[in-house]
Amino acid sequence: MSKSILITGCSSGLGISTAIQAAKAGHTVFATMRNLERREALDAAAQQAGVALHVLALDVQDSATITAAVDQAIAEAGRIDVLINNAGAGYVRSTEQATEEDINWVMDVNFMGVVRCTKAVIGHFRKQRAGHVVTVSSVGGLVGQPFNEIYCGAKFGVEGYMEAMASYITPNFGVYFTCVEPGGIASEFAANVMKQVEGTGGMLEDEYLPILQKYVGGAQARAGTGDIYQTADEVAAVVMRCVEAEDPPIRTRTSNWGEDFCALKTAPDPDGKKLQQQVIDQFLS
Ligand code: NAP
Repeated sequence: MSKSILITGCSSGLGISTAIQAAKAGHTVFATMRNLERREALDAAAQQAGVALHVLALDVQDSATITAAVDQAIAEAGRIDVLINNAGAGYVRSTEQATEEDINWVMDVNFMGVVRCTKAVIGHFRKQRAGHVVTVSSVGGLVGQPFNEIYCGAKFGVEGYMEAMASYITPNFGVYFTCVEPGGIASEFAANVMKQVEGTGGMLEDEYLPILQKYVGGAQARAGTGDIYQTADEVAAVVMRCVEAEDPPIRTRTSNWGEDFCALKTAPDPDGKKLQQQVIDQFLS
């Protein structure tokens, strides 16, 4: 069945790949980005794939742009079936080094951005008695990692938010929630993190420096191996499997590496369905 799908963060990486794969599968795609001047890569990919996209402005930090994009998508397609919360940004600094301004920005883009976009569509989904919110989380939404505590905190928040929504909205209104949890994606993401570090004073000379150097050096070495990093197309294929699923998972890793890395947390309940049932049984039966 052809669906109407709105995706955030389509100026690069996973957003572009997901928009193209969704359009190739015959869906109506509202590919959004905060700055339409960065649409060139998306347009080129769409042209190469021979697909048409509706490209709209949407900044996940600005509710007015979210409402405007949602309203336009509903006006053009008559409905939205799937929201894909893809926009996000990484951040690598210890809590001691992180400024409050940076912390607010990381939480605002990665957590509040998801809440704002979901809030903008959830009433529409409830009235339809159908809909699917797919949020691109991370293995960092399940496993805390060095110097990533602010980013992981935001992604853990996203996981809790989605899990809570799935406990009562899915069984009562037929609206589904899925967290997609990639390991690494070969995209602009890591370079943007390093740009942010360089633009805010670089690696600071303090007691954390040797530990941070070890972490960053290791991350750069791992980027060269095929194990952790997937292409955006590979991860988009997992996102699309969730979109097409009749009974989508509440959470899913995107690679064997990710599955192994998170196994101590996820092995007893890989797709989150057992926990969902337990919460329903405890609180709603
Ligand atoms: P990317 O290439 O850096 O793309 C991130 C996208 O988010 C860009 O389109 C960016 O837009 C957008 N964005 C940032 N702030 C925004 C805002 N305020 N409003 C709207 N859009 C905004 O990274 P990616 O790898 O494709 O990341 C996609 C998702 O995967 C993110 O949620 C990320 O946390 C998650 N993830 C990534 C990795 C990885 O290793 N790359 C691993 C696990 C999870 P601009 O071009 O305007 O900045």
